[in-house]
Amino acid sequence: AKRAGGNTYQYFSGKMTEAAFRRHTMENHLRKAIERNELELHYQPIFNIAIGKFCGVEALLRWDNHELGKVTPIEFIPLAEETGLIVKIGEWVLRQACIKIKNWGNQGILLSRMAVNVSAMQLLHKGFASQVTAILKETGLDPGILELELTESALISDEDSVLEALHDLKKIGVQLAIDDFGTGYSSLSRLKNFPIDRLKIDRNFIQDIEDSSDRGAIAVAIIAMAEGMEMKVTAEGVETDVQLSFLRNKHCDEIQGYLMSRPLPSALIDEFLIKNLR
Ligand code: C2E
Ligand code: CA
Ligand code: CA
Ligand code: CA
Repeated sequence: AKRAGGNTYQYFSGKMTEAAFRRHTMENHLRKAIERNELELHYQPIFNIAIGKFCGVEALLRWDNHELGKVTPIEFIPLAEETGLIVKIGEWVLRQACIKIKNWGNQGILLSRMAVNVSAMQLLHKGFASQVTAILKETGLDPGILELELTESALISDEDSVLEALHDLKKIGVQLAIDDFGTGYSSLSRLKNFPIDRLKIDRNFIQDIEDSSDRGAIAVAIIAMAEGMEMKVTAEGVETDVQLSFLRNKHCDEIQGYLMSRPLPSALIDEFLIKNLR
């Protein structure tokens, strides 16, 4: 979508500049995405294997722009982080997610968890803990229902400020999870200092369960470690029955993945939960 003519067109015609142009266009659109109502949350159900019940959902952000079409979070989240836009967008996500689960509660759809992704930049932003407090107060949600998912790489960025931020959040009473666990090269001795409630095993290690040379060795190690550190563990990206029964045998607490359900838009997740919760 190169609208500009003349020099501008030539300037943006190279291969690299094409990418730079897309980025620039995307940034401009992303700035207005909230006010234009282009953002939406989808929700992926999380299933507790031991209890045999759906126990929560993870909120996943979607962006549909009139010019760019659907942009995946893999592409726009990093841009939102680099530009600082994630602070406002993340606040929007938190609020929508809290409103959603509060509304479910009012309708008698009872879930014990709403998981929300939080990027490093949000976590380290000065006002984050008070943002969370304000949204919980606004929606009247029990803090223990909200679980914030932080990637391992977010946690190793600046240890002192990260620890302080995590403790501030624990004081509020929210749950904390490490997302994509196993991919981030964090040292385990440092990790044990973090007030973390849950590890989410990265999808790659779940795929390895059916790989004959690996047989899920890392997934098993993470489950054992979580147990030793008194954390809960959720397997991400579970797509097959083989993976599910393997994880059940190894006493993994929860699973999430296409086998149970894809992330669903607002109306469909309501239907899904009504059908599958009783
Ligand atoms: P994530 O937090 O690791 O989320 C899981 C991703 O795996 C989601 O991709 C989900 O759709 C996908 N997935 C779930 N089950 C399966 C499965 O069985 N197989 C496969 N192949 N994929 C599965 P999605 O929605 O594209 O999100 C990508 C990433 O973008 C997320 O990874 C998260 O890091 C980031 N993200 C999404 N929403 C937000 C948000 O609101 N805030 C922040 N900071 N990051 C977000
Ligand atoms: Ca996540
Ligand atoms: Ca993940
Ligand atoms: Ca991921």
